Parts: sequence; C-alpha cells; structure tokens
Amino acid sequence: MTSLQLSAKEEMVEKFLDAAARGDVSQVSTLLSHAPSLINKTGFSGWTALMLAARNGHHHVAEKLLSLGTITSHLSSLHLQQEDFTLCRFRYEDVKDLLQKPSTVMIFLGIEKVKNPPSSSQTVESVSEPPVWFAVNTDEDAAVLLKRCREKNCLFPRSPNRDLLKLSEEEAGIVAQARSVLAWHSRYSFCPTCGSSTRPEEGGYKRSCLNSECRSLQGVHNTCYPRVDPVVIMLVIHPDGNQCLLGRKKVFPAGMFSCLAGFVEPGETLEEAVRREVEEESGVKVGPVCYVSCQPWPMPSNLMIGCLAVAMSTDIKVDENEIEEARWFPRQQVIDSLFRGARPAFVFPPRQTIAHQLIRHWICMNSNL
Ligand SMILES: [Zn+2]
Repeated sequence: MTSLQLSAKEEMVEKFLDAAARGDVSQVSTLLSHAPSLINKTGFSGWTALMLAARNGHHHVAEKLLSLGTITSHLSSLHLQQEDFTLCRFRYEDVKDLLQKPSTVMIFLGIEKVKNPPSSSQTVESVSEPPVWFAVNTDEDAAVLLKRCREKNCLFPRSPNRDLLKLSEEEAGIVAQARSVLAWHSRYSFCPTCGSSTRPEEGGYKRSCLNSECRSLQGVHNTCYPRVDPVVIMLVIHPDGNQCLLGRKKVFPAGMFSCLAGFVEPGETLEEAVRREVEEESGVKVGPVCYVSCQPWPMPSNLMIGCLAVAMSTDIKVDENEIEEARWFPRQQVIDSLFRGARPAFVFPPRQTIAHQLIRHWICMNSNL
C-alpha cells in the first residue's frame, strides 16, 4: 500500500530494531549513543527494541535497554511516535475568511464525544459545549495555511498513504472520513445524470443538481451521495495449511511482500471477487473464502474487505502488469519475519494495515503466539 522507499530515519530505526532482535548488544549501544531517541521507536510491525529482544530471549539486550530508560508501555511509545505528525486543527476565527471563498468546501465531521459527563453539582452554564468538527478543502497555499494554525508539530501529509499510517487510530479515522468525502466533492462538481452544476447539501454528504428538470432530483440516486469502493484483500492459504501466498508490487519498499488485493466488480459476490483476483494476479485457484475484518482506506474511498482464502492449486504464474512477484511462504518464515528473526524472509506490511492484521490472524489461528 505504500509507495516510497524507506527514509534515512526509518532505515536507522530498522537497523536498530534488527540489532535488538539479533541480540547484538554492542550495535544497540553504538546506535543509541548516536541517536538516543531510537530507544522507544517502533518499526513496521509495531514492536519496540525491548519487545523484540525479550521475545527472542536476548536478556542482556533487554537489560541494557531498561537500564537506559526504555518505555515499557507500548501505548507510550506510540504517543512518542505520533509527536512527529498531528492533524492541523483550526478555530473558526482562524479560517472564517476562507469559508467565504466559493472554491472552499466544508463538510461536517461530527461532535466530539464528552469523555467526562458533567456531574449533577455542575450547573448547565458552567459546562462548555463539546467541540463540533468540520473538514475544509481549500486552494490556499499549504505553507500560508500552516501559519494560521496555533498548534505545534502540525504538518500536511506529503504522501497521504504513508503519513496516514503515522496517525493515531482516532486521527486516522478522521482523515479517512474527511479525505474520502472531500475527494468525492472535488470529482463530482457536475451532475453525472445531466451535466449541470451541483451544490453540496446535508453537511457535505449529498450533492444536488441545480437543474430542476433533472432525473436525479426524483428518488434516491447513488450519484448524489459519497461513494465507497469495495476492495477485497486476501491471504491465500496453501492446501497443506502451512504456507501462505504473498505478492509484491514494484512500488513496495525493498523486501516487502503483502496480501493480494483488487476491486470488486459489478455483479460479483465478495467470494467471486477473491477467486477472480487471486487467479488473475497469481494463477492460483481458490476454493473456500471467509471474511475476517475490514478497513476504510481513503485513497480515495476504498473499503478494504479482509478475507482468508484456501487455495485449490499451487502453481504460481504472476500477471506482471499487476504484481512483480508472488511466493508461498512457510508459516515459520512468516513468524520469523513478524518477530524479526535473524534472517527475515520478507518485510511485513505496516502494523496499521489490514494486510498485516490478516497475516497475523492466520499465524495466531493455529499457534499459541
Ligand atoms: Zn442533473
């Protein structure tokens, strides 16, 4: 799902985590002396150096990390990572002039949940209203816009795919909603039925045609509402139950393999889409398919539907227009790659992706990990 090579900073993190996973205490110490902040960093699998060292039985490395003050809470390390990048939040006064521009589109996101409901001793007047959030699409220059923001560490994503993975679950959900709906507005300025101009309605969740004669104004039409495009993403299991099929696209970072995926076509069931996509991309025939979980992916409006599928054949013949390579990986190689064994067979997709979760789900189905 990602399209960029690792940055120098990410390479350093990967090198550090690899040293911890291998039990190389001298390399761990050397890297920390150059970059102390590495100590609580997580890699693509979401694991810190302490977790990897402890998992692989390298107690001397774990003791070293603890003596240097590593954070033992996984949640805390995630918070540290998030300091690199947070969503821009503006007050109404900061952007109210932008809202007057005809090119600006604003959509309603929701009302923030009240975490601590007011106690009975508080008067209605003393309780402030929870914030109401909107997302704004504007043509103003990003650098100029950033100056309006009063919060620190805000950035606009340069690579939406990759930067989305750096956000917390809550913020990623906000981006998924906002980006999908705003992308729909930017693509559907004109009525798909008659070609007339349209205008946003219902807080940005509908567009209505300005031509009073238009058929789209009678009944419910899917051209009037934001679209969601279903994509099946599947982990194909070998008939022997002990290997899984993973593929890589040319745009993946070096060494990364992931689940096969593709759009559902009109008239297809999810099971048929899984079988067709796997056969088209890899030549492998698939029998039973079962749904596992799903993930909204706002690039621009996909719903990734995660499935496990059982192969009925094993010969691989890749469609080179779709993927570069596909291979069967034995379960032990997959486990070693997830937990960064000495020689991982491949790089896992990032922890936040459904591909990662599907592979992990399969490993956990028949093991005590
Ligand atoms: Zn129309």
